[in-house]
Amino acid sequence: SGLVVAMDGPSGSGKSSASRGVARALGLRYLDTGAMYRAITWWMLQQGVDLADPAAIAARAGEPVLVMTTDPDAPGVTVGGVDVNGPIRGPEVTGAVSAVSAVPEVRRRLVALQQEIIAASLPEGGIVVEGRDTGTVVAPDAPVKIYLTASADARARRRTAELIGTAAETTVETQKADMARRDTLDSTRKADPLAMAADAIELDTTPLTLDDVIAEVLRLVKE
Ligand code: C5P
Repeated sequence: SGLVVAMDGPSGSGKSSASRGVARALGLRYLDTGAMYRAITWWMLQQGVDLADPAAIAARAGEPVLVMTTDPDAPGVTVGGVDVNGPIRGPEVTGAVSAVSAVPEVRRRLVALQQEIIAASLPEGGIVVEGRDTGTVVAPDAPVKIYLTASADARARRRTAELIGTAAETTVETQKADMARRDTLDSTRKADPLAMAADAIELDTTPLTLDDVIAEVLRLVKE
């Protein structure tokens, strides 16, 4: 018992807002796996780990203590008891996260943690898990898998709008270039976490409002 909804896609595809909306509508927990890669990256930067050295990252991957809050109305992450929800959205972490998330020891550790959080949610009804590889690696048995896409322009516009008023405020053009760079870094590794699960349903959100996307996912869940 318990429902698992796997929501994957690149940043700016609208997956965070949609995943939280779906979790809220269904009374499920919500897990942002990207926040976990960002939090571990924040910790590596704090510790002065050389991020150009995958072996150095791998050697420390087991150390940081991550605690996730899975309330869709107030999702969050702490590392060693420190609330890092602000800094993990900043440019330092965003610029470094691809290097950290490419390290297999990091992925193994976080996938295990994600699977524990999913298992713990099942008696309470289940969870919406959002990320890059939730339908392929983290929850390959999830009964509902959605892969959100959007045009490069739409993705850059959404991310730029989300960052207004934060320390990471940027322009659409800068954001578009930054996203293209991260997509390339994320998808040129051996096991591409951005690959879509064979049984996922692809949803292009470019012409859709957030409410449209949520309604469509809820329809797919009910099917
Ligand atoms: O979704 P978000 O933009 O916060 O993810 C930040 C980064 O974390 C991605 O660019 C990617 O490098 C990594 N990531 C990942 N696997 C996931 C989620 C995120 O490798 N499941």
